[in-house]
Amino acid sequence: MTSPFDILFEPIQIGPVTAPNRFYQVPHCNGLGYRMPHGLAAMRGMKAEGGWGVVCTEETEIHHSSDLSPFIEGRIWSDDDIPGWHEHGALAGIELSYNGIDAVNLYSRVPSLAPRSMGVVGGSGYDPIQTRRMDKEDIRNVRKWHREAALRAKRAGFDIIYCYAGHGMTAAMQFISKRYNDRTDEYGGSLENRVRFFRELIEDAKDAVGDTCAVAVRFAVDEFLGEDGITYQGEGHDVVAMLAELPDLWDVNVSDWSNDSITSRFGKEGHQEKYISFVKSLTTKPVVGVGRYTSPESMVSAIQRGIMDMIGAARPSIADPFLPTKIKEGRTEDIRECIGCNICVTGDTLFVPIRCTQNPTMGEEWRRDWHPEIIAPKKNDKEIMIIGAGPAGLECARALGQRGYEVSLLDARKEIGGRVLRESALPGLNEWRRVMDWRIIQIGKIESVSVYPASPMNAEEILESGAKNIILATGANWRRDGVGRTLWKSIVGSDLENVFSPDDLMEDKLPTGNVVIYDDDHYYIGGVLAELLATNGCNVTLVTSAPMISHWTQFTLEQERIQHKLMKLGVKLYPRTVLSTIKKDSVLLSNTISEDEVELPRDGVVLVTDRVSNDSLYYELKPSLEDGNLNSLRLIGDAEAPNIIAQAVFAGHLAAREFDEEKIEGTPFKIERVI
Ligand code: ADP
Ligand code: SF4
Repeated sequence: MTSPFDILFEPIQIGPVTAPNRFYQVPHCNGLGYRMPHGLAAMRGMKAEGGWGVVCTEETEIHHSSDLSPFIEGRIWSDDDIPGWHEHGALAGIELSYNGIDAVNLYSRVPSLAPRSMGVVGGSGYDPIQTRRMDKEDIRNVRKWHREAALRAKRAGFDIIYCYAGHGMTAAMQFISKRYNDRTDEYGGSLENRVRFFRELIEDAKDAVGDTCAVAVRFAVDEFLGEDGITYQGEGHDVVAMLAELPDLWDVNVSDWSNDSITSRFGKEGHQEKYISFVKSLTTKPVVGVGRYTSPESMVSAIQRGIMDMIGAARPSIADPFLPTKIKEGRTEDIRECIGCNICVTGDTLFVPIRCTQNPTMGEEWRRDWHPEIIAPKKNDKEIMIIGAGPAGLECARALGQRGYEVSLLDARKEIGGRVLRESALPGLNEWRRVMDWRIIQIGKIESVSVYPASPMNAEEILESGAKNIILATGANWRRDGVGRTLWKSIVGSDLENVFSPDDLMEDKLPTGNVVIYDDDHYYIGGVLAELLATNGCNVTLVTSAPMISHWTQFTLEQERIQHKLMKLGVKLYPRTVLSTIKKDSVLLSNTISEDEVELPRDGVVLVTDRVSNDSLYYELKPSLEDGNLNSLRLIGDAEAPNIIAQAVFAGHLAAREFDEEKIEGTPFKIERVI
């Protein structure tokens, strides 16, 4: 039978190797890296099992003089570092990386080598460290190390060897860039000279391993810096024209990482097409592009319109390692679509194992032996009642249903979805609905799960129902008194009129006029509500105790965009400030360092501080567990401890996996130890 998606399953020749289909998992960081090689191999192996035709490593350090500490990336300094690999018929790619000004070398303690001497931009971004300008001998050495790493990768069984000049993070890109290259030798000046080093790396790799391995490049054709950077109409175009037929594959994107991995608040599926579409007109080699494609129709269209030959994906492959298989089997409604939140990116930016909002098994493949599609069948005929159908309750019901258990999922509200339903209605967060939509569709297919909306439950009703196994996913509500990590006493005046919580705004109770938002939460809500109110015509002031607006969004690569948007909307920003007093018509703000005060007029105040868990049912029911009236009782998600949506989904999944299983004593997952 033919399907409109057959084109996605055509094999593609890449130099001397052939990919089985057009699904190409591009390099992506993950916080596992050299520290968790088993976890890394199992995670990549899952992508291969799920049908990705090519599966690549993250950027992989080739030499100790380009050490990306504190970040945890791949490492292939010597044969001892050769990574383990699962194949499942996929081609394995490795992104060799020499990082120049991006390497801070805090581990190896040797100077970083770069086209010119300048302050490093990697690490914290502001480390008091400068690079050493590479002389000709250094250039020869880096070429030699790169060549040796290519040979090592070939010995390790890799099929595709990358020369990496994407994201501005590698010496190859820094040589090309006028900003970082002030050289007067044959590696500086004209574009041809600035491209020389990149060309040499590609030629060296082809010479060393090109007989059996494909040599790919990753190149950012636009840096979103206008004339200060590489542009797709200028030097980005010209570099591709110069090197057109040299590599075996062009993996093209935009730079820096925050532009490449733009979140759904700021960029939609296919957002890079405009920049990369010229590439195919300049080369006959296969072209890979990214753009958070989750819809097979968009993928087919990108190929048919001649934008790319292979669908590159990092995030869609994280949210659903089995995306290709589901398309192949005609199960497109089963695709767990990425929501573009960049929680996965925080694995890298916070140096911890990768997490995903949509896929709770991501990063847990080895240490917990979790498979995204397979779960242990039920052990008995126990029935489970879950109260609360937010992300935690929905995922728990879905996964218990997948195990075969009889589940009743009840929620007080007429419409289920919990915080996801409410938050996805806020500006820019529409795609976050996918967290509930996917689970509601899946639950709809499972006969043993029944959903009861508009069913508020108290402890008595739960006990009267006869249910014996209860999981409480009752969420949390925002505090109304300003208490949080910064202020430990209620803000004076927080009980006055027109003081709002985020819950009020999400219930359409909106302030007007002069509105002061106090943010001690620091993720997206404060900034999103400022955007909402400014767009509604309020005169908004955003006050936060953190040094930056929406401080934590730096780890999801969104902070600058959020701040830029708020500034353009005229929102006045007060970082490192607390809201000390609320009066009837004004507020007092106090700088956290100088303690200087300012008084601002106010009509409304919005307090975005801590949340309070809805855990009262748990404590009311606990005695019934102790006296044997209930068999099991578990509190999960925000009702246990308020956290991000990804953690609620994870908690729901964990509770479903652990239901009626023997309790594991000690650490409940395997640890990768170096002894
Ligand atoms: P989480 O993020 O942990 O999943 P949410 O706040 O998104 O939590 O969802 C909690 C859900 O629980 C909400 O939809 C809420 O209506 C529901 N809920 C809370 N208390 C009760 C209750 N006593 N009976 C039924 N549903 C409840
Ligand atoms: Fe997509 Fe968010 Fe998962 Fe990353 S964490 S893959 S952005 S859903």
